[in-house]
Amino acid sequence: MMNIYPEYYKKFRCIANLCEDSCCKDWDIDIDSETERFYQTVKGELGDKMRKKLVTDEYDERVFKVENGRCPFWNKDMLCDIYIGIGEEHLSQTCANFPRVKIDFDVFQENILSFACPEAARLMLKEKDAYSHFGDEDELSEAENCDDYLSFLLKARKRTAEILTDGSLPFNLRLADCLEFNAQVQSILNDEEPQPLSFENKNGSDLEFILKMHLDFEIMSELWRESLEKVLNNYKKLVIRDDFTVDFEKFALYYVYRYYLEAVRSGDVLYALQRIVCAYLVTGLMDSDFADKGYPLPRMRVLQRYSKEVEHSYENTEKLNAAFENDERFSVENLILLLESIE
Ligand code: SF4
Repeated sequence: MMNIYPEYYKKFRCIANLCEDSCCKDWDIDIDSETERFYQTVKGELGDKMRKKLVTDEYDERVFKVENGRCPFWNKDMLCDIYIGIGEEHLSQTCANFPRVKIDFDVFQENILSFACPEAARLMLKEKDAYSHFGDEDELSEAENCDDYLSFLLKARKRTAEILTDGSLPFNLRLADCLEFNAQVQSILNDEEPQPLSFENKNGSDLEFILKMHLDFEIMSELWRESLEKVLNNYKKLVIRDDFTVDFEKFALYYVYRYYLEAVRSGDVLYALQRIVCAYLVTGLMDSDFADKGYPLPRMRVLQRYSKEVEHSYENTEKLNAAFENDERFSVENLILLLESIE
């Protein structure tokens, strides 16, 4: 099977105790059954502690629950006691793989890094053309057993990425064009004749509802909550900076390559774009607020934190998807009007 990697993938190295927002912070750690079987056999204090800390969570997964915001095995030197005690080869799959994400399409596999890891985020923001060699869409379409549906989605994804990176337009308008293009794609997937969008009786909505929704989400960090509150109180005076959009374009591309092809199973290409609009408005306004204050949280951390707080939360993703499905304010037309209304 063909395995595809973006340019930055193989440059990644975990920086362990130098990491400013470790994956051992804030998250419960999933323990797969093979790893658990081994942990049941470990002797001594470490083995006893592993067995004591292994619990079943609300989703019926076996996990080490976070304690005071930390994995119980993340020691005061910010190193992992399991790694030190029994070796890297006995880390759970989650710990061993993060931030590497493998997406399997049966006929090929795509491999990317998660933006929730600061070191991976740094690499992705540094890379000029991260996905230029990420599998040629035509070549992938010809992969053995690649059906017409997947082949169509690969071409639509490529066009979406081209629109998003067309520097002749401001980013908000590129995003609006992407929504319009994908509304047509969605019609084709639904077996409907693509129609021009109709803005009759649509006034657009103030973006406040997106900020409020993010404040209603499950939030891990108090700093994130406070920052969102400040943006909500001040968003009418904030303007998304041009230099922010240069970085956000890379974050948006990451979302496209991470989520667009979920349509293979869901039949929906718009979710990925609706998520990008939310991320753009929330992080863009937060960046603008932080720029006025000398960046108490650097821009990379705002994007990385969005990934950790929203993208990687099962609960928040469910809430987003439900809103996209049921709330007219997230319609393509309304989001286009909203994007066109911002400076
Ligand atoms: S978040 Fe990334 S760099 Fe930080 S500890 Fe985890 S894998 Fe390493």
